[in-house]
Amino acid sequence: MPELPEVETTVRGLALFLDGQRITRVAQNRPDMRFPFPEGMVQALTGATVTSLGRRAKYGLIHTDRETTLIFHLGMSGRWRIDPEADEKHDHLVIETAANRFALNDPRRFGYVDLVDTAQLQDWPAFSVMGPEPLGEELSVEHLRAALKGRKQAIKLLLLDQRIVAGLGNIYVCEALFRAGIHPRKAGGLVYRPALARLVPAIREVLAQSIEDGGSTLRDYARPDGELGYFATRFDVYGREGEACHRCDDGIIRRIVQGGRSTWFCPSCQG
Ligand SMILES: [Zn+2]
Repeated sequence: MPELPEVETTVRGLALFLDGQRITRVAQNRPDMRFPFPEGMVQALTGATVTSLGRRAKYGLIHTDRETTLIFHLGMSGRWRIDPEADEKHDHLVIETAANRFALNDPRRFGYVDLVDTAQLQDWPAFSVMGPEPLGEELSVEHLRAALKGRKQAIKLLLLDQRIVAGLGNIYVCEALFRAGIHPRKAGGLVYRPALARLVPAIREVLAQSIEDGGSTLRDYARPDGELGYFATRFDVYGREGEACHRCDDGIIRRIVQGGRSTWFCPSCQG
C-alpha cells in the first residue's frame, strides 16, 4: 500500500515530465475507480496546462492553469505508468501531453481521483479536517502537546489519526516511535515534552529517509514504461518480529496488535 513517501516520489516523478506541459488528450477507460470519475473531467483537463504538482498527506495534486486541481489517491495498489507501450488492463485513466503518456493503473481499484477548484482545495472534505503535514513546519512539539493533552488512547493510534498528523501510515508511525524511544501503548497524554522533542524529528527523519530511497529510484522513470510509486526501503522495526534490534544489544523486535493492526517495537529501546 502506498504510504506518504511513495506518493511524494510519485509526484516528483510525474513532475519531471508533466510540470508545465499542456494536456492534449484524456481518456477514461471505465466510469469509475473506487468512486465515479468526476463529471466533465475529460473536458476540464483536455487543453489545460499543468502549472505545478504537489502532495497533501497521501494525495497527489496536479494543478492546472484553469484554476482546477486533479487530486489522486493511489488506494491499495495504484501507480502511474509513464509512457506505457500499450494500454494495459487496469489502466483506468490516461493523460497525454505532446511528449508523454501517463496511465493511472490500479488493479484493486481502491484508488480514486477528484477534480476541484484550486482555490477551494482546503475545503475538500478529506483536507478540511486534516492535521499538519509531517514534513512541514506546522508539525511542532507544541502542536503535538496540544493535540495529545489528556488523551488516554495509545500514542500509536493517535499518530495514525489524520486530524492530529496528516498522512502518517502504520509503517512510519512504528518507525518513528522506535526512533524516538516511545512505547507504542503509552497513553498519548503521558508522552511529555522531552519525548515529543524526539518524536517530531523522528517522524521527519523516517519519512525523509524513505523519500530519499524512493528518489534514488527516480532515474528509472526516465526509461520508457517506467512505473511510479513503489520502491524498497529499509526499516528498523516494521515487519521484523523476532529479529534482533538494530540499536541495542539485547532487544528482540516484538509485534502486538493495536486497533486491529500490527505494531512492531523494541521492548528494550521503547521502555
Ligand atoms: Zn532495541
